Amino acid sequence: MSSILDLKSMNLGEIEQIISSLSLPKFRAKQIFGWLQKGVENFEDMKNVPKSVTEKLAENYYISYAKIEKKFSSNLDETVKYLFSLYDGELIESVVMKYKHGYSICVSSQVGCNMGCKFCASTIGGKSRNLTAGEILSQIFSAQKDLGVRISNVVLMGMGEPLDNFNQVMKFLELVGEEGGLNIGMRHISLSTCGVVDKIYELMQKKLQITLSISLHAPNDELRNTIMPINKKYNVKTLIKACREYTEKTGRRISFEYALIKDFNDSAECAEQLKNLTSGMIAHINLIPANPVHKNKFEKPDKTAVYKFCELLNSLGLNATVRRTLGADIDASCGQLRAKHKNKD
Ligand code: SAH
Repeated sequence: MSSILDLKSMNLGEIEQIISSLSLPKFRAKQIFGWLQKGVENFEDMKNVPKSVTEKLAENYYISYAKIEKKFSSNLDETVKYLFSLYDGELIESVVMKYKHGYSICVSSQVGCNMGCKFCASTIGGKSRNLTAGEILSQIFSAQKDLGVRISNVVLMGMGEPLDNFNQVMKFLELVGEEGGLNIGMRHISLSTCGVVDKIYELMQKKLQITLSISLHAPNDELRNTIMPINKKYNVKTLIKACREYTEKTGRRISFEYALIKDFNDSAECAEQLKNLTSGMIAHINLIPANPVHKNKFEKPDKTAVYKFCELLNSLGLNATVRRTLGADIDASCGQLRAKHKNKD
């Protein structure tokens, strides 16, 4: 089953083409698209579509889904983490968080990841495959159905590098806003990237109103090269140039993710370099105490050191905040759960 055959990844125009190529009545396209946007997981659930039609479709198309394999609810806050299985048995993770303004979901865009960031659990074992747009949507459909709530915000910050699955992620962004479907507007969506610069340029051409997050984590090549292999392809200067153009072209501010690692990127010199990198740019810096994963040597600085670094950035005139950690008791950071589950098998 290749991604092109997943009906849930298709827009109305594409479904109309399929319906016409199968010489089926035109009105079926809208009906079928409507069901898909309601999150159906199989042809049988399309109640008003006769078997003669669905059988014909099933010859060449399938409907993707994300089945709840495991669910973990935090005892500390209302964070819920899901381990989903896909049609081929692959596993992905999503996390739902409750904020004052509503529910937010962190979705995966790939099974595993090829980017190789040294501190990240998603990259262990590399990438198995890209997700289809339908599989990204399905994470939201399944969580909403399970929790009985409406999810109003999405962050593409789960497993995988969204810009390494560009076409399906763009398709996802198109379908997630469907009024009869999830109806989540672009301003309620964040996409996070480790810095795939050529794709950042492609993305800015689309002038979407999403928030772009950049996983910066280090303010110079010397440090960034040691933790993020992508930096050897697109260095800090190249990345920041693309970010500046992105903000100019879209009018949207950039959010820089900065995982603080003890004695690595938390010095006053780093703060100064961050200031120089972002000067004059509409940007926000999101400080995250690094989450220790696998047997790596990265330690998180203590809480006081995190706030001290934040204050230092603020005193330099930067817009920086410390990210609230949710779901600390359920391994809510991306990739941690899947890695654990796989180890057990
Ligand atoms: N590939 C994309 C999407 C993953 S988003 C990206 O790199 O942005 C997940 C975010 O969590 C990224 O900012 C990532 O760098 C960060 N992250 C991964 N492992 C982490 C860890 N152990 N501690 C803190 N942040 C981590």
